[in-house]
Amino acid sequence: MLVVASRKCDKKNKIYHRCGCIYARRIKPDNRKDMSVEVAERKHYHACKYCAGLRGDVNVHKGAFATWSRKRNMQFNYHKPSDTLYIQTEVGFWKVFLKKELGEYLLYHRNTYSAGMNFNEAIHGDFHRQSDVKATESMEKLVEYITAHDRAKGIIMDDYRKLPKSTKQQKKYYKAAERRDKKQAMRRLDSIFASLEQSQAGMKRYSFC
Ligand SMILES: [Zn+2]
Repeated sequence: MLVVASRKCDKKNKIYHRCGCIYARRIKPDNRKDMSVEVAERKHYHACKYCAGLRGDVNVHKGAFATWSRKRNMQFNYHKPSDTLYIQTEVGFWKVFLKKELGEYLLYHRNTYSAGMNFNEAIHGDFHRQSDVKATESMEKLVEYITAHDRAKGIIMDDYRKLPKSTKQQKKYYKAAERRDKKQAMRRLDSIFASLEQSQAGMKRYSFC
């Protein structure tokens, strides 16, 4: 990530900012110095308290978050005590952590979610790491991923056979959806037998086929 510092800053108080930080905008263009975050750390600059970390990303990119909320029908909730960003969509519930050593975000997905679930209930459920999403510096990539994931989920709920199958990744998703569909079909069959057995004595012997 590229960050900004002032050439004129006091030696004991060297601070760097994200590019969009309101404090970075106060630095006169002539005094502005761009560098990578690695270089800034090596030169003993400290991260600005307003724009650093996940909370800083949310602070600085309010406009982008507002646009995503509106256009993609997502709700973003930054939870300060756990330094976690929760993302609620129509069909899913997600959370994002910043892995500090990497300076990159990790995406987690709630195991189960039903539309209209209460926020407090949703944050206390079980989540799994979304294993096909690499750690990334880009919040936008995660938002794109969630959008594509939701779209695919919508198709699966209708008919998984309508899923695209062009790329390697899409083929992988298709196979996974196919497996889930078969499993569900077996479960449905099992429950039909179970209810038949319950309602009609003697039916059990037919279920060993
Ligand atoms: Zn800043």
